[in-house]
Amino acid sequence: MCGIVGYIGKDKKALNVLIDGLEHLEYRGYDSAGIAFISKDGLNIQKEKGRISNLKEKINFNNESNLGIGHTRWATHGEANKVNSHPHKCGKLTIVHNGIIENYIELKEKLKELGYKLKSDTDTEVACALLDYLYNKYNDMNLAIKDFEEIAKGAYAIGIICDDDYDNLYAIKKNSPLIIGIGNNENFIASDVPAILEYTSKYIVLEDGEFAKITSNDIKIFDKNADNINHDIKEFDGSKEDIGKNGYNHYMLKEIHEQPEVIKKTANHYLENNFNELPDFSKYKKITIVACGSAMHAGLVGKNLIEKYGNIPVEIEIASEFRYKKLFLDKDTLVIAISQSGETADTLEAIKIAKENGCDTAGIINVKESSIARNVDTILYTYAGPEIAVATTKAYSAQVELLSIIAYNIAKSSNDINKLTEINNFLDDLRKLPIVMQEILNNTDKYKDIANNIYDKNDIFFIGRGIDYALCMEGSLKLKEISYLHSEAYAAGELKHGTISLIDKGVPVIGIATDDAICDKTISNIKEVKSRGANVIYLTTASLNKDGDFYNEKIVLPIVNPLLQPLVNILPLQLIAYEVAKKRGCNIDKPKNLAKSVTVE
Ligand code: GLU
Repeated sequence: MCGIVGYIGKDKKALNVLIDGLEHLEYRGYDSAGIAFISKDGLNIQKEKGRISNLKEKINFNNESNLGIGHTRWATHGEANKVNSHPHKCGKLTIVHNGIIENYIELKEKLKELGYKLKSDTDTEVACALLDYLYNKYNDMNLAIKDFEEIAKGAYAIGIICDDDYDNLYAIKKNSPLIIGIGNNENFIASDVPAILEYTSKYIVLEDGEFAKITSNDIKIFDKNADNINHDIKEFDGSKEDIGKNGYNHYMLKEIHEQPEVIKKTANHYLENNFNELPDFSKYKKITIVACGSAMHAGLVGKNLIEKYGNIPVEIEIASEFRYKKLFLDKDTLVIAISQSGETADTLEAIKIAKENGCDTAGIINVKESSIARNVDTILYTYAGPEIAVATTKAYSAQVELLSIIAYNIAKSSNDINKLTEINNFLDDLRKLPIVMQEILNNTDKYKDIANNIYDKNDIFFIGRGIDYALCMEGSLKLKEISYLHSEAYAAGELKHGTISLIDKGVPVIGIATDDAICDKTISNIKEVKSRGANVIYLTTASLNKDGDFYNEKIVLPIVNPLLQPLVNILPLQLIAYEVAKKRGCNIDKPKNLAKSVTVE
């Protein structure tokens, strides 16, 4: 989390680049923001609590500068206030940092004994003091950084300005993302490519343990031994429009509406290659999926599909739990990581652990060249394009789509004629799916009406069984994330074992019954809550649609291939969450306390 950006050039435009870059990185954190830049009067630091707009208002853009660093924060150590916000300055060094210095308490004590007076509660200021101490020791930044990397534990992407040397910008990377943008007589550093796309589409991805010394026309990269190394230059393959709002009020709404296109793009890629990028699943007796948040929910949908149609067991592991539990893994298990950013710290660690346990690994990842993509044996990219809204929609759908593709490919090699008949037309159905999704997205009034009826309630429940329960979890999370309405997803049959005590007159319950194998049981559970006064929104498909007095509202969705049905079913849930958040006046794209790419444990 946190976004960092840095600029060194000759056109005196550092302030514009820094603020523009931070605005494109605000999805990574928005507790506070700050910049440090060199003007004719020397080093200036400006920071403000809250959004980048607060900082922007205070900046005099007439200041000319050729060197600067900027930061938008998602606090991990110390509350979100001006003192704790970045950049931090100690001695001759000023830094911005993304990540966590795990041994900062012990380092802080030592640095205090050495005379450093630290003003903030952050681990970042400790990192800054340590770098300054080492710089003074060697009078050489390369040696200082080399030692820093040996001493500081944890995760860090750091941008550094040194008071002795305003001709260089320094950058370090370990376990937090950092790229170097290559311009014409100007160079950049950033946490993510959108921050620099206005100026260049060429970039280098720094690897863990590496650092860079950057001037306006030269980039030197060093490995952890401080030996000079070379890197390939990459070119961003999207367009600048991908990172704009394209006329929509919110990125989230734009991204919801991009889903048909994303599904098409991802399908086309894998269909063109005849699925030859997929691993050879016949080698494995079990699949373990590691993921967090919505990606974990996508994994749950995948589990249902792969187990039902592929007939192979799938375990879902929350990556932060997987890291610290006893594992039963061997070479017969394929471990699949799912992460939009490819930088999710817990998922990345989970993959490293899986490899240590002798497992083959695959990654369902949206961001090319991200850390997880570079760590797995097989990369399965989703083609969702840059996702800016903190609450995922299109990347989630692309993940589910890939899991459907995996389920299909495993099922294809099985001899279960009944199951194969059910999914028979998968390839054609996959090609037609964007049209079905588009039709739903063209008619959103119903979801606005539902939102009008539930936005002012205190609690809401989502109930369903099997694959519908997996959808409930994602629908409920979406609502919580952006509308701050308390919401719970429950396996429909489990409700009566306690939680049904919370159902009262008027409490909204979204009952999802789209799986023919289990829908009658779910309807019984829906009736249980209806008879206790719940305001029931019943979501089903055209072929299972039932009438009766067990619901207040009904959403009937078109029926598609069972491997693709979840991609249709999720759309109303995303739209309801969006409309509720809008009615409640929430900051939809940047919900409080959240950030998009979770690069801390
Ligand atoms: N640990 C730093 C702070 O709290 C950076 C946080 C982050 O990158 O998420 O200021």
